[in-house]
Amino acid sequence: MLEGNRECGIRHRFEVRHLDRVPNRHPAEMEQLIHWCQVFDNEGLAPVEGGASAGNLSFRTPAGFVITPTRSPLKSNLDWRAFVEVVRADWSAFELHVLGERTPSSDSFLHERIYALRPDVMAVFHGHDDLVLTHADALASEFPIAVTGEARLFGTRDDAADTAREIGSEPYCIRRGHGFVSTGRTLAAAGDLAVAVHRRAVELSEME
Ligand SMILES: [Zn+2]
Repeated sequence: MLEGNRECGIRHRFEVRHLDRVPNRHPAEMEQLIHWCQVFDNEGLAPVEGGASAGNLSFRTPAGFVITPTRSPLKSNLDWRAFVEVVRADWSAFELHVLGERTPSSDSFLHERIYALRPDVMAVFHGHDDLVLTHADALASEFPIAVTGEARLFGTRDDAADTAREIGSEPYCIRRGHGFVSTGRTLAAAGDLAVAVHRRAVELSEME
């Protein structure tokens, strides 16, 4: 993993404008998002690095998307008010307009780009998984997986735009030197795929 991609101590690189202190209420999806945050924590898909979980999860809303805040532990029973709704992304100013108390995930521009390019995607989950990185090529031959071309620093405009483009029409992408992105038409589809690939990576490592 590139040292700069360890998320401990890394702050978001964009500006944030808070339009309101709470996100819109999406009870069913928020309930599911809390569930998948816990699954990611349990499965080791968002390992704690420097006191915060390395991972970020979101779902699409009519106004934009609801995402986990930056520098947050995902395991604690999250309250829906901790989530942030991104309602506008200004790429030229590198600024996000949000509803919510917290700062949205440092990968928010990547989520924004995926939703813009992929009308079929309703949920985007990002995590860190060293076993998936190790077995990237084997996994890509078994699952519908895109693999990014090179390791690069996360959280920049270029990383967001390039990664979203490299996913193409696949539901899952391995970010070399970093982690993975799993997407789906539902939160459950994105989550199930992330867990399936992870468990296969565990099997592959046990066969060595
Ligand atoms: Zn990451």
